[in-house]
Amino acid sequence: MQENIRYSIIVPMFNEQEVIAETYRRLKQIMDTLHESYELLFVNDGSKDRTADIVRELCREDANVRLLNFARNFGHQVAITAGMDHAQGQAIVVIDADLQDPPEVILEMIGKWKQGYDVVYGKRLERKGETAFKKWSAHLFYRLLKSMTSVDIPVDAGDFRLIDRKVCDVMKSMTERNRYVRGLVSWTGFKQTFVEYTREERWAGVTKYPLRKMLRFAIDAIASFSYKPLKAAAYLGFTLSAVSFIYILIVVYQKLFTDTTITGWASTVAINLFFNGIMLIILGIMGEYIGRIYDETKGRPLYIIWERAGYEEEREQERKTRSEQEDHHEAIR
Ligand code: UDP
Ligand code: MG
Repeated sequence: MQENIRYSIIVPMFNEQEVIAETYRRLKQIMDTLHESYELLFVNDGSKDRTADIVRELCREDANVRLLNFARNFGHQVAITAGMDHAQGQAIVVIDADLQDPPEVILEMIGKWKQGYDVVYGKRLERKGETAFKKWSAHLFYRLLKSMTSVDIPVDAGDFRLIDRKVCDVMKSMTERNRYVRGLVSWTGFKQTFVEYTREERWAGVTKYPLRKMLRFAIDAIASFSYKPLKAAAYLGFTLSAVSFIYILIVVYQKLFTDTTITGWASTVAINLFFNGIMLIILGIMGEYIGRIYDETKGRPLYIIWERAGYEEEREQERKTRSEQEDHHEAIR
């Protein structure tokens, strides 16, 4: 039986073998200074490298370490969700595995939590070692999202944050797919504040968010928190109809009262292509939402865990096998 754990630190990992041992070391160092109970909950999001093996080893050595091992890569946001589902602490912190979010900031977050805040997010003052394109696109994305939704989602804040147990419980009750976790946390509306920090360079390894995943992530965020793209399609439709109507009047006028020749083919084709393009874009936008409805109706589980380690049951099991082996050796002797 796990007795009251005070802090849970959730670490999503995808192919992080170069950095994970160091991350563990830094987290342990920081958390030990508090002299309160804690768990380090590593969620392995289908890594193809040795990440899981390293953490499994840590579970053996350190009773505060736990591992949830996904059957395949389900995505960063889902890994965080699984962490929240399994966290036992009174305060839950989500932190990246690559040490871009400095573990020392956790102490500041805990300080704010003790002052009574339910959500403490990390606000990035500066991002080191990231490409100009990433910084620029992230800057733009946060502002675009803010202009599109009525939920107060803080700009320039990632998933590095502390949430209170009661926020975590609400999060657990939200089963939606295609999740944008930081948005959902803000959506709950609990009392939030922030601590500022400088986002460091990745300690080792390379980013696990290529452009393709970043785009997917941005679309998920917007589609989960805004209907504006759908409305924009309707407005565009109205505007274009109005313009076309006026243009028809002009054409009729020209035909009846002037002798301007209306030149033909090229302009017709251009206009056709243009409007067909717009139609397809609008269909695509609708498709994004319909696809999400489809995902929801299927009601599949969000993730599959094929292995857990570091929990009391597993430790018990291991002790049993070990003592059996010892008995066996004894018998042979
Ligand atoms: N991550 C994950 N699943 C994925 C992609 C990333 O669990 O499919 C984890 C990754 O291991 C890291 C965190 O999400 O702990 C953030 O990823 P990364 O540092 O690569 O993104 P960046 O900081 O470059 O945006
Ligand atoms: Mg990173």
